[in-house]
Amino acid sequence: MNSTEVYVLFGPPGVGKGTQGELIEKKFNCSRISTGDIFRENIRNQTELGIEAKSYIDKGELVPDSVTLGMVENAIVEVAKNNSIIILDGFPRNVNQAEVLDDICEKYHYVLKCVIALNADDNVIIQRLSDRLTCKKCGTTFHKIYNKPSKEGVCDKCGGELYQRSDDTPHAIANRLDTYRSTTEPVLNYYQHSGKLAEIDASASPEDISKTVFKLFSS
Ligand code: ADP
Ligand code: ZN
Repeated sequence: MNSTEVYVLFGPPGVGKGTQGELIEKKFNCSRISTGDIFRENIRNQTELGIEAKSYIDKGELVPDSVTLGMVENAIVEVAKNNSIIILDGFPRNVNQAEVLDDICEKYHYVLKCVIALNADDNVIIQRLSDRLTCKKCGTTFHKIYNKPSKEGVCDKCGGELYQRSDDTPHAIANRLDTYRSTTEPVLNYYQHSGKLAEIDASASPEDISKTVFKLFSS
């Protein structure tokens, strides 16, 4: 069997990593790991990890690496059992996590293929996040103005209830953007000379962005 290929979806909060991740999953035969989704599931189920993570997430801070790294390694190893392509959404989010991802790839003989870095201006991001609605059940996102659900408050995909994430509030959004610019964005430098970095302007529509993103997978 060929070694498992890892793709990273990188970028500020609300830039569309989740949306693109879902489109990639549907089009190509692969599986996505969203650290944010794993944390939210743990919060819903009130696990120890969820309780610890919630205080950081609600403030718009990163969950400490001591909590995140083991969780991610387990998730990757589990998913790699049945998938030859893995999409990471929301990891790595600091330089230490990027280094650990290299260690994980070396340890299990995975190949880091590409870091797909989406970017958009802060005002675009704030607009997207402030009016974002998320499905409680399946995590699909909508927007109160640009991407309304057919029926108010109900997910088009699964019928689940839509809510505003506790970190999609003005204060938490501002913190998440600060954290991104100070701690996460330096990860781009880490990959700068790896030949694996693909930077994409994500202010366009999801369909237009996905055309560019899909090319990275077909090549
Ligand atoms: P977004 O990309 O919209 O900010 P996510 O759902 O990816 O949302 O993440 C939500 C929150 O979960 C982050 O603000 C952070 O607190 C936490 N989180 C997600 N991924 C990581 C990570 N790799 N390391 C630390 N914290 C993380
Ligand atoms: Zn849903």
